[in-house]
Amino acid sequence: MSSAPRTESSLKILIVDDDELVPKVVRTILARMGISEVLVAQNGTDALGIVGDAGRRPDVILCDLNMPSMDGVELLRHIAGHRFAGGIIVISGVDESILQSTEELAREHGLNIIGSLRKPISPPALADLLATFDGTRIRGSGVGPERISAEELRQGIASGALTVFYQPKVTVADRSFIGAECLARWQHPERGVIGPASFISLAEELSLIDELTEAIYLQSMRQCGAWLAEGLDVKLAVNISVSSLHRLDLPESLALQAAEHGVDASHVMLEITESQLMKEIKQPLEILTRLRLKGIGLSIDDLGTGHSSLEQLRRIPFTELKIDRSFVHGAAGDASARSILESSVDLARKLNMTTVAEGVETEEDWNLIASLGVDFAQGYLIAKPMAADELTGWLDGWTAG
Ligand code: C2E
Ligand code: CA
Ligand code: CA
Repeated sequence: MSSAPRTESSLKILIVDDDELVPKVVRTILARMGISEVLVAQNGTDALGIVGDAGRRPDVILCDLNMPSMDGVELLRHIAGHRFAGGIIVISGVDESILQSTEELAREHGLNIIGSLRKPISPPALADLLATFDGTRIRGSGVGPERISAEELRQGIASGALTVFYQPKVTVADRSFIGAECLARWQHPERGVIGPASFISLAEELSLIDELTEAIYLQSMRQCGAWLAEGLDVKLAVNISVSSLHRLDLPESLALQAAEHGVDASHVMLEITESQLMKEIKQPLEILTRLRLKGIGLSIDDLGTGHSSLEQLRRIPFTELKIDRSFVHGAAGDASARSILESSVDLARKLNMTTVAEGVETEEDWNLIASLGVDFAQGYLIAKPMAADELTGWLDGWTAG
């Protein structure tokens, strides 16, 4: 067996397998590597209970595919719904092609797949996968998941360590700049810039999401006001989790903050994401309807990937449909992604909504959305999310190009 790197001992592992023997064997292998924090779930429901509990959430999940009540593929989808930012290793006795498409599927869901292991599990192979994962974590690239405590997040929000990055959106018809999506970043004093995958779901669980939304919204409005005052015509889109839609005074408070910064409501779009099922519809529905009455735009984000559904499209007065990057990037060469993209555009048109394609990374992606008549594009082909002071520089280059 390979000698395990010292750092691995800090990992917390969850094993999900209905077989009683596998967790015992894996536990023994992990113990030899110095990893003692090991949780076991015998079915998907128990596993989701652990993933949804901030105090018990693991760094890495070892997930079996063949399980009787909820299979591993379905479980991975639900884990993605919890915006789990840790690593995932798929373990199974099934053939290679199923393992591969499961891995691909999980990546599409935004999960961080470290790799897969075939049963019986080889200790060196497991050690290698965990070492790879830990390596990316410790380098703190800002992309890998970070282990954040409740107290740290509370302080981070209170101390104003949350900043906003702006990712430009342009019209597909003539490439002109229309605005940007506001994306949360955490400027951590020791760890550098941390991405939202590491803290949004935690903020939701700790009921800190309102503070987070408020901080991001306020900064975004202040910035929008400053840009407008400089003569830059810009519309900003801010992400709001459904779990923030419980304060009935939210429409007044958001409209007021925009006005205080000289931003007309028509320059504000809210991207509604559901990381949790909308259990109670009445309150969110009232809040969203009143936001529309105030002239604020509503975009349905992650349709078809999170919990957002066609049912919500019917009930909520959305003005824009944001097409998830899993149906955009590479769709030209992927028949099923392409048909979902086409149907989304069609649906939006019939419902009188504008469309934004996110994840436009290549000319091929751009040409496809242009041929389908998508209104706006956002993605690495246009620009990566950037700090506010970089935007005008980017825009000069974009307009010149
Ligand atoms: P999202 O709303 O789907 O945001 C788009 C994400 O896609 C961003 O990741 C962006 O950096 C990334 N992206 C943009 N263009 C491309 C591309 O061409 N290719 C690829 N592969 N990725 C691209 P980011 O900033 O890490 O945000 C992740 C998610 O966190 C967001 O997904 C959003 O759901 C959530 N989030 C971010 N800021 C906030 C916030 O202030 N409040 C709430 N509630 N959620 C937020
Ligand atoms: Ca969004
Ligand atoms: Ca999305």
